[in-house]
Amino acid sequence: MFHAMSPSEPAAPPIPIDDGEPRDRPIAMWRGWCGRCPRCGEPTLFRAYLKMASTCVSCGEDLEPFRADDAPAYFTIFLIGHIVVPLVLMIERSWAPSLWVHALLWIPASVALSLVLLPRIKGATIGLLWALRFKPR
Ligand SMILES: [Zn+2]
Repeated sequence: MFHAMSPSEPAAPPIPIDDGEPRDRPIAMWRGWCGRCPRCGEPTLFRAYLKMASTCVSCGEDLEPFRADDAPAYFTIFLIGHIVVPLVLMIERSWAPSLWVHALLWIPASVALSLVLLPRIKGATIGLLWALRFKPR
């Protein structure tokens, strides 16, 4: 069906053409870490805290196929575990505080680290998927 575009409609972003060129993985991951589109680098990757945009409003890149699913949560748990557990053991060996002190320290620290790192790790994961052209079939 033919759809005529009226002159008052804003111009749609150009449809990206995959030229098959190699994509720089570290740059794409860094852009994703910063919440930026892995293709153009504009801050358009997320439309909410963890809700990724289906397309980049700047360059028109179709981001929908690059779904990270549960991988960012696993990576975040893995990373935070490797940060928090050694600190817990160091504090325990040095001062042996009560369990409630541990709870007051490590529960908020783990929650705060999760809230800070999860969107960044999700963005980096999406950037890597984009750089690898990894789309589920
Ligand atoms: Zn873009």
